[in-house]
Amino acid sequence: MKQIKMIAAAMVAGTSAATALAGLYGDTPDARHAWAVHDNNRPQPPIIQAEPDKPPSDAIVLFDGTSLDQWCADKGEPTKWVLKDGAMECVRGSGYIRTKQSFGDCQLHVEWATPTKVEGGGQGRGNSGVFLMGQHEVQVLDNYDNPTYPDGQAASVYAENPPLVNACRKPGEWQTYDIIFHQPVWEGDVMKFPGSVTVLHNGVLVQDHWELEGLSTHCTRRPITKYADKGPLKFQDHGNPVRFRNVWIREIPSRYVNTTHGGPGVKEADVMALRKETAAKLFADIDLKSDNKVDILRRMLEVISYDKDAKYMQLLEELGTMQMAKVAGYDKTKIADLKGEIMGIRNDLNVLIRNKVLPDDNKMRAELQKVIDEHKWK
Ligand code: MG
Repeated sequence: MKQIKMIAAAMVAGTSAATALAGLYGDTPDARHAWAVHDNNRPQPPIIQAEPDKPPSDAIVLFDGTSLDQWCADKGEPTKWVLKDGAMECVRGSGYIRTKQSFGDCQLHVEWATPTKVEGGGQGRGNSGVFLMGQHEVQVLDNYDNPTYPDGQAASVYAENPPLVNACRKPGEWQTYDIIFHQPVWEGDVMKFPGSVTVLHNGVLVQDHWELEGLSTHCTRRPITKYADKGPLKFQDHGNPVRFRNVWIREIPSRYVNTTHGGPGVKEADVMALRKETAAKLFADIDLKSDNKVDILRRMLEVISYDKDAKYMQLLEELGTMQMAKVAGYDKTKIADLKGEIMGIRNDLNVLIRNKVLPDDNKMRAELQKVIDEHKWK
């Protein structure tokens, strides 16, 4: 808590988080993590606007009800689907409609409605489908009072996994899919990750990070084979006049893109490279000519939490020797003047020792702790 207050005070004082001397706090970087726990040097996420009933500001709006300009038929020719009352509607026999643009891993929002006039049954009633990268179908079907095989009902990953619940609204009513899709990840010919689909149907979780087993098809199991890194979003023509509206997509990174901080894609070499880069940036920011040697010392303690390069360790050694001499030679009646800096440095050293960056028997910590104990400083 005290450290948080220090960070806040430094930020109010006008220094950025990156340059504020907040002191060491959370567990330091390690072989799998380029950043400390609660690391203020870690880049901030981009700021976007997320207003009610609007696509997020960083989304690509694929269909807002005004035009089919971003869509075409499967082979790139003009689509025969029609624009009607702010929706795009499937015309029987016209084939799939697809985006002209291609996408990979994504968050997708789609609204759909099956025909108000109920016709047919089972798979023949209000059937369409959302094909992610043109390969994996999240089924669209009028499943309101219309049972079918579970792995083919609305919100199923078609032919693989039924939804957790049937959250269908009545025919003709608008329904939402919010889909988070990750494509398969390959290393050469070896599949590292099969890809996954998470679906919220009308706000209800129905596919919970389902790991894909194949490419969507009917009746048979069709193993996943490599396809292009990006592919179009497609909606199916299954012969029923199903409508879609408010379609937007956000491209998201594969979790394997992150190689520097935890997760399945982490690579120790990348972690260390980023740690060295961070240490170098922090070191470059230090004003080595400053008279404030305590500030330099504490910044160097931060630097070595990322990288114990010999040149950093040597400078730290020199600064530590100076600091210990200063404390040892200080007027004992006025030693309380140094309470803040002694406690600050000792706290930093404790974090580094706790994380094995420095050994338990670190001399500077021992000497500073002795002073703290003598004066019963808290
Ligand atoms: Mg379908």
